[in-house]
Amino acid sequence: MKFNTKTIHGGQKPEETTGAVMPPVFLTSTFAKTSPTEHKGFEYSRGGNPTRAALENSLASLENGTHGFAFASGLAAIDAVLRLLNPGDEIIAGDDLYGGSYRMFTKLFQKYGLEFSFVNMDDVTNITDAITENTKLVWIETPTNPLMKIADIKAISSAVKDVDSTILIGVDNTFATPYLQQPLDLGTDIVMHSATKYLGGHSDLIMGALVVKDKKLAEDIHFIQSAAGAIAGPMDSFLALRGIKTLHIRMQRHCENGIAVAKFLEKHPKVSQVYYPGLEKHPNYELAKSQMNGFGGMVSFRLKEETQEAAYAFLENTKIFTLAESLGGVESLSNHPITMSHGSMPEEQKQRVGITNSLIRLSVGIEDIEDILADLEQALKA
Ligand SMILES: *Cc1c(COP(=O)(O)O)cnc(C)c1O
Repeated sequence: MKFNTKTIHGGQKPEETTGAVMPPVFLTSTFAKTSPTEHKGFEYSRGGNPTRAALENSLASLENGTHGFAFASGLAAIDAVLRLLNPGDEIIAGDDLYGGSYRMFTKLFQKYGLEFSFVNMDDVTNITDAITENTKLVWIETPTNPLMKIADIKAISSAVKDVDSTILIGVDNTFATPYLQQPLDLGTDIVMHSATKYLGGHSDLIMGALVVKDKKLAEDIHFIQSAAGAIAGPMDSFLALRGIKTLHIRMQRHCENGIAVAKFLEKHPKVSQVYYPGLEKHPNYELAKSQMNGFGGMVSFRLKEETQEAAYAFLENTKIFTLAESLGGVESLSNHPITMSHGSMPEEQKQRVGITNSLIRLSVGIEDIEDILADLEQALKA
């Protein structure tokens, strides 16, 4: 099956007893057994639920993996990955990470004895130089949030595996979605999503996902999912599955609107810089073009005026763009990373990566592009 067909049919079959085309929302905690060791595939919904299973099969299919896992949030999915490790193990991560991932690494897991180093993933040797005998995981985000940097997944995977083939490589694929990029095909072990964003696509749920292609790794993650219990519920699983069925057409429009917004901002006199991998000026344009099947709907930009007032004036005056946390829904959202999504990042780290007052992040929705551009124009005048 090709990708657009997979979003609708991948891993899916009509429900067995009734033929329902969409899996029913199995709002049940437990399942009747005929004998203590005999059941019909499900025992207790923490370990598995048919609606969640339908979603997990869809996720595995979309990412060309063999096993998918749905969690209570994107962060719960990353938490499950870190639970694969032991005290003393080292993780190498990118230095322009989602703020919540950075906070989990440094504020939660560091105190349980995991060691983290944050490197600029533009250059593969920054990663290989940071590998020690204790390195167990390389965590990649590409495109990054909010600066839209691109890491070369294939080059990093092969360089890391050359040094030590047992090091796991995980990719946070939230911004790209499997429509634009399939990291397992590029040599990685784990793909993670905040399904809250593009996979769900309608700003109506919080959910995380992992997909793997190795049987042992799948067993370990299933054990963690069931033993720690941060599972996605059946209603949310249904909504995510329903969202996924239009992922391809939504992404197509997000990409069209994303490039149009990036080009509009690039020419605007109040804007000093635009961060979008689809602009030829982007330092990783060629890499993005070869690694991704399009450039997505996330656009960050910098106002010429480096003051909080200028940023707030823009953010408070949009009418189509809603000022809100999150991204990836059908509606356009705006964000001030320094005070919102990346508020918990230490000051020096923000300065180092360039998250300052003038930086604004847009999640470009799928409204009519004329309305989107007119809204940006009038808000920039404010
Ligand atoms: C939102 C987000 C997360 C966290 O996901 P939640 O569903 O909010 O827990 C992780 N990574 C990226 C890139 C995100 O945008």
